Amino acid sequence: MPLYLTSSYKFEDAEEMRALFANEKEGNVYSRYANPNTTELIDKMAALEGSEAGWVTATGMAAIFTTFGAFLKSGDHVLSSRSVFGSTHQLLTNVFSKWGITYTYADLDKPEEWEALIQPNTKLIFIETPSNPGIDIIDLEFIAKIAKKHEILFVVDNCFATPYLQQPIKLGADISIHSATKYIDGQGRTLGGVILGSKKSILEIEGFARHSGPAMSPFNAWILSKSLETLAVRMDRHCENALKVAEFLEGHEKVKLVKYPFLKSHPQYEIAKKQMKQGGGIVTVVLIDGVEGASKFMDGLKMFSISANLADTRSIATHPATSTHSKLTEEQRLEVGIEQGTVRLSIGLEHIDDILADIQLALS
Ligand SMILES: *Cc1c(COP(=O)(O)O)cnc(C)c1O
Repeated sequence: MPLYLTSSYKFEDAEEMRALFANEKEGNVYSRYANPNTTELIDKMAALEGSEAGWVTATGMAAIFTTFGAFLKSGDHVLSSRSVFGSTHQLLTNVFSKWGITYTYADLDKPEEWEALIQPNTKLIFIETPSNPGIDIIDLEFIAKIAKKHEILFVVDNCFATPYLQQPIKLGADISIHSATKYIDGQGRTLGGVILGSKKSILEIEGFARHSGPAMSPFNAWILSKSLETLAVRMDRHCENALKVAEFLEGHEKVKLVKYPFLKSHPQYEIAKKQMKQGGGIVTVVLIDGVEGASKFMDGLKMFSISANLADTRSIATHPATSTHSKLTEEQRLEVGIEQGTVRLSIGLEHIDDILADIQLALS
C-alpha cells in the first residue's frame, strides 16, 4: 500500500461530491474522516480482533476519550477499576467529572463485587487486562455476562495483550481499545489509537470523531499497518523472553514479588491461561529495600533503557511510583499494587542471555 499524504480528495463532478457527502457512495472525502492508509489499518485490526468495524485515532488516549465522549452524557456513571492507565484515571477523575459523569472503582481481583456496584445510570464498564503496571487479570467472560445482563456497554483496553494474545470482543466485550503506540508499532516510532467494535457502535464513534477531530495521520497509519505484518513474530519473542525473565526473578533474594500472567504464582493464573494465548511482554517486579532498591537496580542496568514507554524492541525499565503514577497518593498506589520498590520491565527482543545478564548484574 503506498502512502497517501493528502488532506483532501478531488471529485469527478458536483454529483459525485454530493453523493459522497450524503453517504450514498463510498469513498474518501477528507482525511479527518478517512484516508486509504487509515482504512487499511482499520481493516487489518478488525480482521485480527474479529470485530465488524473499527476507527483509528492519533493516540491511545484519543481512542479512550473518543469512546467515552461518543457514548456518555451528563448524569451517566462509569464502573471501572483503579488499575487503569494513569491518563485514563485522570480523564475519569478530572475531566469527565467536570461534565457530570461519575465513576466507581472496583477491584480487579474481586470480580464477584462488580455487579453490586452497578447503578441505574451505569452506562459503561471500562477495564484493562492485564493492567498497567500491576499485571492484574480479570475474567473477561465473567464481566461481559454482567454487562449484557444490565445492558451496559463493556469496553476493554486491550493494549498490553494485543489482538494476537487476547480478543475481548470474541469473549463478549462490546469495544476493544488499543494504544497502537505500544505493541502494534512495537518499535517506539509513532503514536496511535484503535477502537474496534460492532458496525453500530463504530457509527457512534465516527459521529463523534469526525467532528471532534482526533484523526490519525496517514503516515502513522502506514507505519502501523506495516508493523502488523511482524506482530505475531515479535509477540512470540516478547512473551518467550518475558516468561524467562519472570522465572529468573522469582525467588531471587533481592526480589520481594514478581507479577507475570503466565507464572503459576500469579493470583489469576488460571484466568490468564483461559483468555490469553501467552503472558505478554511486561514483567512487574517489586524489589526489597523500596525506592532505594528500585533506583539502585535501575541505575545498575546497562542494556535496558530507563523510559516511561513500553513495548519497544529494546528492553525498558520504569519506576511507576515516581513517574507514570506519581500523581496518585501512596494509598491509591498501593491499591493498584504499586509499591516504592516496584519496577515495570518491558522485555524487548534482544537475546535472552543478554537480558538476563543485564538483570543479574543490576541485582548484584
Ligand atoms: C500507553 C497506554 C495508553 C495511552 O496510549 P497513548 O498512545 O500513549 O495515548 C492507554 N492504555 C494503556 C494500557 C497504555 O499502556
